[in-house]
Amino acid sequence: MEKGNLSVGSENILPIIKKWLYSDTDIFVRELVSNAADAITKLQRLDGMGETSLPADETFAIHIVLDKEARTIKFTDNGVGMTADEIKKYINQIAFSGATDFAEQYKEKMEAGGEIIGHFGLGFYSAFIAADKVTINTLSYQNNALPAFWSCDGGIEFEISPGDRTARGTEITLHIGPDGEEFLDDYTLRRVVKKYCGFIPVDIYFENAAAKDTDAELVNDKNPLWLKKAADCTDEDYKKFYHQLFMDFNEPLFWIHLNMDYPFRLKGILYFPRLKHELESIEGQVKLFSNQVFVADNIKEVIPEFLLLLKGVMDCPDLPLNVSRSFLQSDGYVEKLSAYIVRKVADKLTGLAQNQREEYNKYWDDINQFIKYGCVREAGFYEKCKDAVLYKSTEGEYFTLAEYLARNEEKIGKKVVYASNKQSQSQYVGLLTEQGVDCVLLETRLDMPFSTHVEGQEDGLQFVRIDAELSDVMKGDETQDDHTDLVALFKEHIGDEVDIEVQNFKNTVIPAMIFLPEESRRMQEMAQMYGISFGDTKAKDKLVLNGANDLIAILATGNTSGDDTKILCEHIWDMAALSHRHLSPERMGRFVERNGVILKKFIGS
Ligand code: ADP
Ligand code: MG
Repeated sequence: MEKGNLSVGSENILPIIKKWLYSDTDIFVRELVSNAADAITKLQRLDGMGETSLPADETFAIHIVLDKEARTIKFTDNGVGMTADEIKKYINQIAFSGATDFAEQYKEKMEAGGEIIGHFGLGFYSAFIAADKVTINTLSYQNNALPAFWSCDGGIEFEISPGDRTARGTEITLHIGPDGEEFLDDYTLRRVVKKYCGFIPVDIYFENAAAKDTDAELVNDKNPLWLKKAADCTDEDYKKFYHQLFMDFNEPLFWIHLNMDYPFRLKGILYFPRLKHELESIEGQVKLFSNQVFVADNIKEVIPEFLLLLKGVMDCPDLPLNVSRSFLQSDGYVEKLSAYIVRKVADKLTGLAQNQREEYNKYWDDINQFIKYGCVREAGFYEKCKDAVLYKSTEGEYFTLAEYLARNEEKIGKKVVYASNKQSQSQYVGLLTEQGVDCVLLETRLDMPFSTHVEGQEDGLQFVRIDAELSDVMKGDETQDDHTDLVALFKEHIGDEVDIEVQNFKNTVIPAMIFLPEESRRMQEMAQMYGISFGDTKAKDKLVLNGANDLIAILATGNTSGDDTKILCEHIWDMAALSHRHLSPERMGRFVERNGVILKKFIGS
């Protein structure tokens, strides 16, 4: 037997690994299984290179056995195994990756396929996250190799002695300590294995020693869909994979199969889930894999932010996972990844919009938030997918910007007229649509930054809210009359709160409406958002009296009695205000009271 110290100075680094290196305590499962998978891949490679010869019917597998009573978890593989010398070199000398060594040694002879995973970091020692003591029982594939045994109880001392393993391969036993208690639970451990290793390219069997009569469960799928060619996958395949991966039994709307070779490799599938709700309630999930080993969900440093609304998988074998996150950014990795995905997503959307427009219209309510968010957050996204950006009208039709302008530009100029609330702005909407102009709906919080962004991209285009102005199409003939008296009359009764002017509407039913120019309203909204006060400079609402309306015409004659005039002016103003926004409680009270007076007059009492 030989004893020695783990050779990183004289410090015991295991507590550091435990506390600091891995914030996810379940990560040891990933590390030990990927080492086992590497050991098998290496042996397959060696066999392929003629360095060893295995029987033709050799089957490879990893076994994970939980024994709650003995408080152990065993990871066994039938891969290359290790000699005592290799243990000394690869295990004792911490931070010396045997994977790199192997790759270096056989660089020339390596054929394509079968990646070696070993690049996560201080992989093996992560076992001490859950274990107090770890043992290795191993037999190398090499001719006449002797079995070796290694044991370490979490201090800086280890021991090596001859082992008793008779089958080629490695068995790693974790003696679970208090920190790993939760992993002694069958359900928990099984879940963790499936999470990290559900798609690893070697069969993994999970076994519970306590349940003697049940068979070991095969827990992984060696050929995940994302590795297949898109041409070989059916819609059913994609849907099934989605359900399996996300436990989401809603159908995804559509998906994009990613496959990139340069400047780095990436394979994956991105799904567009049904979204419907406002942005904050959308929770996507993009699972990042490296060579079929799960790394993490939604890594913001790697996945472009706007994609976090999607669901899917991305397998990036070239991703240097053990380097710092700031390195990832400075490397331009994220930018290149973004650029590729942005293009793929935009191509898919544009293709759907062009070739399956009816279907695409139906998707729009679900996907519009995602696309708008992408346009605002991701430089260049709007430019690439603008032909797939739709505007839904109050009548339930869907137009691209070009289509909207083709229908309406002649009447309203290079503008998009929108309502931010179909219900409460219905009177305004009616006034416009009865002139044959389409009004679109921009009803969510994201629509404001989105439309501002589009204005910045489209020369001379303006988004105008339906209550911003009495647009020319709504106006009747110009009046030559002098309205000074009429305006003065209103001022006398309703005060100075609003500016007042007179215009002839085409619509003769409505006596008056309130408008607030787009610019002023946006300023106010901004001010509100950032808590700035405008003081006196706050723009006033404008009450536009309809010169073509009977009541206004009667008031303009100046022949109404004092009391009636007051009631009429106040009531016209209140009604205009009501279809613009809510009345204050006091004003509502007066409005109701006045209604009573009017009704009494009506029945002549
Ligand atoms: P890495 O996987 O990055 O090389 P690890 O700490 O996970 O780092 O493992 C160190 C080395 O120990 C591996 O490269 C390999 O040479 C050896 N090793 C670990 N587990 C096994 C195993 N199950 N079979 C054979 N060799 C192993
Ligand atoms: Mg490893």
